[in-house]
Order: sequence, then C-alpha cells, then structure tokens
Amino acid sequence: DAHHAVVIVGGGAAGIATAASLKKRKPDLDVAIIEPSDVHYYQPGWTLVGGGVFRPEQTAHLEARLIPDGVKWIKAAVVAFEPERNAVILEGCRVVTYDRLVVCPGLKLDWGAIEGLEATLGKNGVTSNYRYDLAPYTWELVQGLKRGRAIFTQPPMPIKCAGAPQKAMYLSADHWYRTGVLKDIEVNFNNAGGVLFGVKDYVPALMEYVKKYDARLNFFHNLVAVDGPARKAIFEVKEPEKEPRRVEMEFDMMHVCPPQTAPDFIRVSPLADAAGWVDVDQSTLRHKRFDNIWSLGDVMNAPNAKTAAAARKQAPVVAANIVADIEGRAPVADYDGYGSCPLTVERGKIVLAEFGYGGVLKPSFPKVLLDGTRPSRLAWMLKEKILPPIYWHAMLKGREWLAEPEPHKIAAE
Ligand code: FAD
Repeated sequence: DAHHAVVIVGGGAAGIATAASLKKRKPDLDVAIIEPSDVHYYQPGWTLVGGGVFRPEQTAHLEARLIPDGVKWIKAAVVAFEPERNAVILEGCRVVTYDRLVVCPGLKLDWGAIEGLEATLGKNGVTSNYRYDLAPYTWELVQGLKRGRAIFTQPPMPIKCAGAPQKAMYLSADHWYRTGVLKDIEVNFNNAGGVLFGVKDYVPALMEYVKKYDARLNFFHNLVAVDGPARKAIFEVKEPEKEPRRVEMEFDMMHVCPPQTAPDFIRVSPLADAAGWVDVDQSTLRHKRFDNIWSLGDVMNAPNAKTAAAARKQAPVVAANIVADIEGRAPVADYDGYGSCPLTVERGKIVLAEFGYGGVLKPSFPKVLLDGTRPSRLAWMLKEKILPPIYWHAMLKGREWLAEPEPHKIAAE
C-alpha cells in the first residue's frame, strides 16, 4: 500500500492548481494526485468550440504534462473513502493512505436522467457543449440551420458554469443574425428555473440580447425526455401555484445542458452532505467533520458558482490552510465565494459576471476599464486570448498573482 503526506483526488482544474500551489509553498512536500484520465480538459473553452471560435484540440492537454514536478501521479479512479483510517480505496481494491486529503473529482453529468437522450446525442440535431466530442457538433448544426425551431435547455441548479446554456444560445443566434436567417428561426430557452441569471445585476444586459435575438424564455420548463428520430422533446412544466403539466415541443436543433449531481462515489461516502456534495466550511474549505480533509472545485457544497474561476481562487486557500495545518497553525486563508461567468452575448462581446457569496459583485477591473454589467469587447479579448494562457501557465503552475486569498477571520468562527 502507498502512503503520501497529501493525497489529491482528481487532477482537473482544482486538483492540478492545488498541487502546484502546495509545491510552491512547500517544495519538499510529498504530494500525490489520483487521476484516471490521460487528458485534461479546459472546459471553459468548449463554449467557444460550440461557437466556432476555438478548435477542440485547443481545450485538451495531456495530463502527464500538467502534473507538477515532484508530484506523484497515481493513474487510477478512487471508488471509496475510509476517513476513519485515513485511506482511499482505488478500483481493484488498492489502498492509498494519507496524512491530509484534498477531494476534487468534479461533478457528474447525469445524461442518463433524461429518457432517450444518450441514444440521440450527436445526431438528430441534438448536441451539447458540455462534452468535448459534442461541442464541434453544436457549431456544425448552427451553420446548417436556416429555418425552424432551436431549443436550448437548462436543468435545475446547481450546474457548472450556470451561464453556459444561455451562452450557447446567444452565440448560435448571433450567427443566425449575422447570416440573415434568424427571422426564420424560432429561438427558445427552456429553463427549469425561474430566472435568466441568478445575480440580478447582469440580467438587464442579457435581456437586451434576448430581445435582439427574439428568443422565447420558457421558464420552469425541465427537459425530461427526448425522441431524437421524431425530433420531439418533452418538458415537465412546474410553474408556481399551478398544476404540473407536460409539454411536447418539436425541434430542428436542441442544445442540452444535462442535469448535474455529485459523483456517485462521493454521494455514498461519509464525506457527503444530505444532497451528496462534500460538506465543507465555506470559508476555509476544510471538511466540517474530518479535520485532515479539504475539498474544492465543483464537488463541494459551498454556495458559490461552480466555475474554473472559483477553483482558481480556492486552490491557494486550500494550499495555504494545509501548509498552516502541517506547521501546527490555525487556518490562515478564507475563500470569499468568488466565481466568474463570462457570458458570450455575441461574437466579440461578453457580459463578464464576477461575484461572490450572496451575489455580491466582485469585479476584477475598475469600472471605467471594464463594466461587467455591460457587454464589452475587452471582456471577449480576455476570454479568447488571456484567460486560456492564465489557466495553463498561471493557475495550473501555482503562479497566483490573480488569486490572493482573504486572510482568515477567526471572529467569524
Ligand atoms: P474538473 O475540472 O471537471 O476535474 C475533475 C477531475 O477529476 C477530472 O480530471 C476527472 O477525470 C477526475 N475524476 C473524476 N472521477 C474521479 C475518480 N473517481 N477518482 C479520481 N479522479 C476522478 N468555468 C469558468 O470559470 N468559466 C467558464 O466560462 C466556464 N465555462 C464552462 C463551459 C462548459 C461547457 C463547461 C462544461 C464548464 C465550464 N466552466 C467554466 C466550469 C469549469 O470547467 C469547472 O467548474 C471546473 O473545471 C471545475 O474544476 P474541478 O477540478 O472541480 O473539476
């Protein structure tokens, strides 16, 4: 059996950033990452793949090249946790033990929860930017559609990148607008929830684009079944104070954002809260019951927007608090709930939502330079040209000048 001082479960955005940050702070620390996949994806790029801006290959790098120097890569999937004996169980019943554990395997895209969906993804006009192999099909469909009905779906919260379902709609409609076919296409946004975006300051700018593209906002419409060959989708409509009903809609193209849950091996583990997510203190990101466990990224239950931008801010908090713990000190860093969602409202312009816990706006730039509540060309530049290199060369390397954590406030405890 193997033992490491720090074991990290998941080598995605959060896992690699945390490993790099730990090694920057304490170069001799014995760190291992458990990650089954050969490929690491920059998922925020998939919206631009679906919009015909990025090539898919730009969003995938070999995991082997991202594991920080001096960090051990255990290439396997974790299947269970035994926190009482500081152990994780890998597939094939191998055991890895640890002094301290970081849990960040992301979330589960629950395609199977929608009847008929898996059988028709990638054909019959049904696509999703939530999968690497399907995002190019979105762009193919958008270019091919000249008339008819397009539906963009959004499942119940929480989901990663809550703006991504509508980003797909705006970029598609923008292409139809520019090529003169939008007047013959009925654009529908079928949202299980009742608001366009959870932080109200950004809604007016988004509504201007809803009007420009003449998109129908169908709130409380939750996709439950698809018949691909017949090109029909079934929605369960649960409007407040009305009897639930089912609505059938035909489509020529449908972009689906799947329902999302905690991964199964997390949900059944002693680390989970009642809803299945890893149960952490939302400031220190330390587990509420197990003192030597931390969690970050999409898998944990703090009420932030599940984004890579959030993981960028969380990684240094976890790393600083683990190093403090090793040195026998109390937590030193707090996470303020920062998350960011660059809403691609048209090709070349973005509404840059940046906010923390409670929907408090947390702009990275002075308003005169970049007002996040207005569509901005600079924000598009940021998304297309600047954020990808920041991800690969700063966040995943432990260079953290954009991710300064808040000092820990003992009084808040
Ligand atoms: P991930 O990056 O998903 O990594 C999880 C890792 O854990 C994976 O490598 C996986 O292989 C591994 N793993 C899974 N199971 C196991 C197991 N059993 N054992 C060990 N390892 C395991 N964020 C933004 O900031 N801005 C955006 O514009 C944006 N747009 C997005 C658009 C789309 C279409 C999508 C899908 C996401 C978008 N995001 C965006 C969200 C962002 O990609 C995620 O929030 C981020 O990747 C979360 O990081 P993570 O490390 O928690 O999970």
